[in-house]
Amino acid sequence: MGNILEETKFIMKKHNIKANKSLGQNFLISEEVVNEIVSCSQIKKDDLVIEIGPGLGTLTKFLLEQAGKVICIELDKKMINILEDRFSLYDNFELINNDVLKVDLKELIKNEKEKGKIKNVKIVANLPYYITTPIIMKLLEEELELESITVMIQKEVADRLIAIPGEKNTGAITYSVYYYATSEAILEVPNSSFIPEPEVTSKVIKLNIRKEKTVDPQDKEKMFKIIKSAFTQKRKTLINSLSNTKIFDNKQQGEEILKTLNINQNVRPEELTLEEFAKISNKL
Ligand code: SAM
Repeated sequence: MGNILEETKFIMKKHNIKANKSLGQNFLISEEVVNEIVSCSQIKKDDLVIEIGPGLGTLTKFLLEQAGKVICIELDKKMINILEDRFSLYDNFELINNDVLKVDLKELIKNEKEKGKIKNVKIVANLPYYITTPIIMKLLEEELELESITVMIQKEVADRLIAIPGEKNTGAITYSVYYYATSEAILEVPNSSFIPEPEVTSKVIKLNIRKEKTVDPQDKEKMFKIIKSAFTQKRKTLINSLSNTKIFDNKQQGEEILKTLNINQNVRPEELTLEEFAKISNKL
């Protein structure tokens, strides 16, 4: 696999690159981690891989060897020059110089699928940590035709995303991820696997997009609004937090709804399953 540390230092020196902290630039230098990300992504020759934030191209190089096509989306023009220099000879490489949050991924995927060579689409990325949540929510909420999302993110965020609703360490976002995907923890990554070292420990997780949803609320937006409201005060009882946020007209309405659904009156938001939130949403 070559020496990634030496290669990274060489490229940075050649192009006079200093990592841009405000763009979340922490470059991977661990062969073991790169290997693990690529292998757990299970990339096939008829896959389209979309890599967000390719940076100097450390992961890209290995993705290009395995995928039918790799489309990289990178915001930093300096990285664009390096990537074009490095991979111009690959005919399965495409580069988009834009903020990933502004890219119409639905259209991009549709166009690639119409060309007929691509079967499945996978996201692989060492994400810029300052926008982890918006990126993951975009990938999920736009209901893109994805098979999986393999990302390296901050450990703390990772643990919250892949928690099981109703169990420990959850937040409103846990329910969103669970609604769209099943999840796996792949690998914890120490700060020393990057230059420069980030301030937090990292974790690779894989989200496998569900083909069928586990719950089917009448109004999905309403259900997620209720979950968000509940979690703004997750230490309070569900009845209190949903009454305070005006989801329930008053406590009495909350008590009646919980009673008909056979849910404990003193339940706290974090104790509820997604299915229970769906039922509450349907009752309102
Ligand atoms: N993939 C490289 C690696 O593993 O060494 C770099 C990962 S670095 C953590 C994140 C990358 O995302 C940087 O190259 C950064 O320039 C890029 N980036 C930051 N904000 C972005 C955005 N809004 N859209 C696309 N790329 C972005």
